[in-house]
Amino acid sequence: MKSAEIREAFLHFFEQKGHTRVASSSLIPENDPTLLFTNAGMNQFKDCFLGLEKRAYTRATSSQKCVRAGGKHNDLENVGYTARHHTFFEMLGNFSFGDYFKRDAILYAWEFLTSEQWLNLPKDKLWVTVYATDDEAYDIWTKDVGVSEAHMVRIGDNKGAPYASDNFWAMGDTGPCGPCTEIFYDHGADIWGGPPGSPEEDGDRYIEIWNNVFMQFNRTADGVMHPLPAPSVDTGMGLERISAVMQHVHANYEIDLFQSLLSASAKAIGCEQDDAASLKVVADHIRSCSFLIADGVLPSNEGRGYVLRRIIRRACRHGNKLGAQGVFFHKIVAALVAEMGEAFPELKTQQAHIERVLKGEEEQFAKTLEQGLKILEQDLAGLKGSEIPGEVVFKLYDTYGFPMDLTADIARERELSIDEAGFEKAMEAQRERARSASQFGMDYNGLLKLDVKTRFQGYEGTSGSGTIIALLRD
Ligand code: ATP
Ligand code: MG
Ligand code: MG
Ligand code: MG
Repeated sequence: MKSAEIREAFLHFFEQKGHTRVASSSLIPENDPTLLFTNAGMNQFKDCFLGLEKRAYTRATSSQKCVRAGGKHNDLENVGYTARHHTFFEMLGNFSFGDYFKRDAILYAWEFLTSEQWLNLPKDKLWVTVYATDDEAYDIWTKDVGVSEAHMVRIGDNKGAPYASDNFWAMGDTGPCGPCTEIFYDHGADIWGGPPGSPEEDGDRYIEIWNNVFMQFNRTADGVMHPLPAPSVDTGMGLERISAVMQHVHANYEIDLFQSLLSASAKAIGCEQDDAASLKVVADHIRSCSFLIADGVLPSNEGRGYVLRRIIRRACRHGNKLGAQGVFFHKIVAALVAEMGEAFPELKTQQAHIERVLKGEEEQFAKTLEQGLKILEQDLAGLKGSEIPGEVVFKLYDTYGFPMDLTADIARERELSIDEAGFEKAMEAQRERARSASQFGMDYNGLLKLDVKTRFQGYEGTSGSGTIIALLRD
């Protein structure tokens, strides 16, 4: 099945179960300054769960554009290196606002995944996690659905545990939350990784495909959990991950959609289409950048625009590494429009705008990229130890426009780390200089502009509702 067919099958399945098909909302969250970008299907329904908003329906289904590329727990650094993480992805979801609860949610998910009429997945490849104390969900899975206990794992909050899983989703410190149950697919013994809840689960053998959250509480600032007006359901399944399963490939990059993006990326760069992480980074980043621009974000030095700028620059650097001569990134937009323009018409109508913005940003960055890399090489040649000093990271940022994570990315390739605290200190010193200078009425706006540092402090839920990130600017 092609990705587009899977998307349609999912929405159609839930329509048949009485759900209203709702369009994806924008990547820029409406009326929610605490959220960097839309990162889960439930974002647009938050008030429905809280009982603050009533809609004409109590069941909804959507395929939501998501971006997870900011904050402490963002996926940006994973992209290109894991089989399963993107900056931009589509989250398929079904939602119940005080309508059905655990039993129906679980039965629907299982039916869609395993019935012959739908995805027809082999049951013995599926694993299921439930919240540690959620006997009700455990019993539904084992008794009603018939999942073998050998494939069931109980997982708690895992605060401080070395595992990736966490089966209690919360919308940050406050907001809707509840226990969840997740479905994993076993891609086979030749891939490294352990089952969910094991120390090796971060490997890519057992891949989480679907999270079902049982929304039950609203946590207030005092930490108290208030029962929601009605127990609800929020689920999220990554379209690219389930497509990989359905297309009998392991990595998301091997699915139909990504094949054409990878080949367009290689063509634009002028390199081979191989398994290079850098090529995956470029093919991934063209999606988040294009969709963000289509939804109204422009590269800038603060807030959402700065995150976009960082992603574009990261893509440029990886293209450069593969030998790109001159600008190349904007040339991939056409392939993206061909692949996704049907499902997301905003890409089609704004293609020229997206290309123009990307090209402008590429040209601007190209001027300093080469120079900055040269400086970095020089500094690395004289480096003692395995940490790049904060002043070097700052100099690259300040003079050559290298976002800190770009330098961190280069460092990682060479098994080096960066001195983040030292970088912050140098930033603060510059801020101080700018502040005192402005007291003399000098126009330091140019400097201040570069000086704005956006920091994201985040909380990552593990639900279909995902990473909720508070955006703080200092
Ligand atoms: P993982 O543990 O693999 O990072 P997650 O637990 O953070 O995933 P959720 O917040 O539960 O993910 O989101 C619901 C679903 O969205 C996941 O089960 C997965 O299918 C998909 N998903 C999450 N993050 C990404 C991503 N960065 N790229 C592609 N799909 C994703
Ligand atoms: Mg997870
Ligand atoms: Mg999860
Ligand atoms: Mg994650």
